[in-house]
Amino acid sequence: MTERDAIVIGGGIGGLQAAHTFARAGLAPLLLESRGTPGGLVFGAPVGGVWVDLGAESFAKRSREVAALCAELGLETVDPAGGSWVWSHRRRPGSPDDATPGHAIRIPHGVLGIPTDLDDPIVAQILSPEGLARARADLTMGAGPGAGAEDLASLVEARLGREVLDRLVDPIAGGVHSAHPSRLAVDVVSPGLRAALTQEGSLVRAAAAVRAAAPEGAVVSSASGGLFTLPRALVSRIDELGGSVATRRVVTGIAREGEVWSVTHHEAGRAPNPADPPVPVGEPQVDTTTRLVVALDGRAALSLLGSLDSLGVSDWELPRGADLAQVCVVLADPRLDAGPRGSGLLVTPLDEGAPRRVQAKAITHYSIKWPRVVAGTGLHVLRVSYGRAGIPTPEPTLADALADASVLLGVELDPASVAGHAVVHFPNSLPPQTPEHRARVADLTARLAQEPGLAITGAWFAGTGLAAVIPHATRVAEELAR
Ligand SMILES: Cc1cc2nc3c(=O)[nH]c(=O)nc-3n(C[C@H](O)[C@H](O)[C@H](O)COP(=O)(O)OP(=O)(O)OC[C@H]3O[C@@H](n4cnc5c(N)ncnc54)[C@H](O)[C@@H]3O)c2cc1C
Repeated sequence: MTERDAIVIGGGIGGLQAAHTFARAGLAPLLLESRGTPGGLVFGAPVGGVWVDLGAESFAKRSREVAALCAELGLETVDPAGGSWVWSHRRRPGSPDDATPGHAIRIPHGVLGIPTDLDDPIVAQILSPEGLARARADLTMGAGPGAGAEDLASLVEARLGREVLDRLVDPIAGGVHSAHPSRLAVDVVSPGLRAALTQEGSLVRAAAAVRAAAPEGAVVSSASGGLFTLPRALVSRIDELGGSVATRRVVTGIAREGEVWSVTHHEAGRAPNPADPPVPVGEPQVDTTTRLVVALDGRAALSLLGSLDSLGVSDWELPRGADLAQVCVVLADPRLDAGPRGSGLLVTPLDEGAPRRVQAKAITHYSIKWPRVVAGTGLHVLRVSYGRAGIPTPEPTLADALADASVLLGVELDPASVAGHAVVHFPNSLPPQTPEHRARVADLTARLAQEPGLAITGAWFAGTGLAAVIPHATRVAEELAR
């Protein structure tokens, strides 16, 4: 048994930031991560000879802590280039009946698809005249309607009507969070929006106020060399400050005796299906501490915390996430230099009666969005995403991705131009932050007081995305370090 100043279980971005916070406070934490490389869902790999992000690639600027962390680690941050678009499966309004269905529209300025200006001509391109008239009712109906709505869909429908929900908020918020807006707690996906509604008496004006309060420029930003450089920089800094990051260590149990936590871990072996998480092999090793942070993904966290009766989590089933897959294509095609759809395009989920020409749910033109990552290579990078909540697991191929990208970008792509590609699967991913889930998290937070020295962080607990996870991980580790 080795006694440690602090132990962090899980080396995703939440665990790394918790360990970094301990190390900054003068402690020597041990972080245990089951995979060979820390970073969790923030990871990159070389594709076609270029290192690119294959997991998360940006962070929301609404919380300033992520940019501040990058600066502290010496990483330059950069806003994305190029605007973004939404793909409608319907024919362009006014086009002849025999025109091919489907068209791309610029995304209007807004918050999760809620426009900040209903007079923006792009809004009139997306909504029918009736839909726009219904949305305008928001401006004069006072703060009452929708004020009690906990999920995003109820709020938007009550204020702006069904069309804004279906044609803007569902493709944009639903695309980002891989869940229908009815399954997204407003206060988690857009903190401050409901308070702004009360103040402004209109959801459109509330969205404008939320945007005005956020840092200038785009709503997201990234590390200029790729977001995958952030976990690497965190590992180096933890090491410099005297902490240690142990990879290929699977934690199998935690227990408390008085104020001392013991953590049992094993060497990580390959699961029979290499896509599954590593499995424990060999002799157990036990480390002890009085400061323990569990920073795992939700399922792994609940399975570990289930042994602590006081927390009452053994019957907790997380909301099911979506089975996502992504094809990253690196190719040489100068016709893409102009960025025909800017930084990318989100595809409207369903349009009754319209034939679908594409199966993808989104495409990111990564090399236009983050030009510095591929600077000097002459190559383009497309990340074509598949999968939505409630539909069968997608198995996209390179050919599917090229066909969909050709339609969405309006450029017929040639397989011969492809320098490399990678298909990545994210099973049961991004469990939605439903109001019920948040209520259970609040209950568990209260119960944690019965387990001194223990903290929980990670997206399932703190909220999805780096802007939620990083400040939360910092706060819980600071509290334990005191
Ligand atoms: C496709 C995709 C794209 C995304 N894009 C963005 C984006 O652009 N911007 C954004 O802000 N967010 C994005 N997100 C969400 C974001 O990536 C996550 O919210 C965040 O990275 C979660 O970090 P985490 O530390 O909570 O968990 P994870 O990254 O899941 O880390 C948990 C870690 O625990 C380890 N682990 C599991 N079990 C054990 C065990 N028994 N012992 C030891 N270690 C274990 C895992 O290997 C993993 O490294 C995206 C998510 C997905 C799926």
